[in-house]
Amino acid sequence: MLKTAVEVFDEKLSRPDLKVFFCANRYIQGANVLEDLGRLLHMISGDSIGLIAPGDLPEAVLDTVTTSLDSASIGTHRVLFGGQCSYEEIERHAATLRDSGMGALIAVGGGKVIDAAKCVAKRLNVPLVVCPTLASTDAPCSAAAVIYTEDGSFCDVEFLHDNPAMVVVDTAVIIGAPIRFLLAGMADALATGYEARTCLENPDARSMVGGRISLAAATIAETCTRTVLEHGYAAIAAAKKGQIDESFERIVEANTLLSGTGFESGGLAAAHAVAQALTLVPSIEHGFLHGEMVAVGTMLHLMLEQQDEEFERVDEFLKEIGLPRSLSMLGIEVEDGNETFEMVIAAACEMPFMKNEPFTVDADRLKQAALAVEHKVGRVPVPG
Ligand SMILES: [Zn+2]
Repeated sequence: MLKTAVEVFDEKLSRPDLKVFFCANRYIQGANVLEDLGRLLHMISGDSIGLIAPGDLPEAVLDTVTTSLDSASIGTHRVLFGGQCSYEEIERHAATLRDSGMGALIAVGGGKVIDAAKCVAKRLNVPLVVCPTLASTDAPCSAAAVIYTEDGSFCDVEFLHDNPAMVVVDTAVIIGAPIRFLLAGMADALATGYEARTCLENPDARSMVGGRISLAAATIAETCTRTVLEHGYAAIAAAKKGQIDESFERIVEANTLLSGTGFESGGLAAAHAVAQALTLVPSIEHGFLHGEMVAVGTMLHLMLEQQDEEFERVDEFLKEIGLPRSLSMLGIEVEDGNETFEMVIAAACEMPFMKNEPFTVDADRLKQAALAVEHKVGRVPVPG
């Protein structure tokens, strides 16, 4: 049976020197590119595809996709995504599409439908084409899917045999989404360079695909963070005006291609360990986007590593764009003995990415960093 990269590299950790780099096979981005989806699909598949999209997908987007597929004479088996990337949902769609004879599966929508489609494509052994309608997560390019229970709690991460065969990003669609998604994607992208650098510099660290960090991944991750800091403000201004410009295009690429490739092959560390721990608090999991949790995680990451200059830069940037910067801004009382605070700290220390830090992060150390962040952002006065 075919194994995923993670399974193979888990067996091979006796070779910690291997540099491993994964990425999506093809990435295509631009305004109105979905109008050409049918023609682009001829690079991947024959004349029949499966299409999975949520019911609340804007009608104009669905029209563009179906018109493009029709005009390229591609037959479509469409299934409706129910909203949760759960095993129940995945198995249901896999059963429906199993005998359809489709040559590829297309996912159109946000992070959850993309992740569900990855798992469906894996079960049916067909290539996956991803058309994100938001630039809020690094899901589109990666070979991992986050699975939730039916009621929305975190359940598992499933690894695929391959990264998506093609990612098609229509910036004219992305710019029409609420700006909160763009901002969250920028915060997720911002963390990428810091976490990859931690992994590159720590010889014991491993990326998400189980290997050491290639220069390619480190370079992509570094460019990702720099792009957000250099073009973030201009991209937000462009989005508010609804005008696609070069800064907006660069931010969409950073949020999608650079962030997705950079985290997967560049590795994660404290920022995502904290973000993942935060999903265990129901009010945060339901009230905040992944990138908003990563924003807080990045502040703790830079504080833990005592990167003062970068901390100030990130603090100022996140403040300016209005994202949360400390645990208390997510509603957690940062105080010894507080149940939620203690739980998040303990869970973050146990997350596998935290082991990529070059020093041991125990509860005391992480609490001190969390409190120092509160002082810095002015939520808790400095004692004395
Ligand atoms: Zn992320």
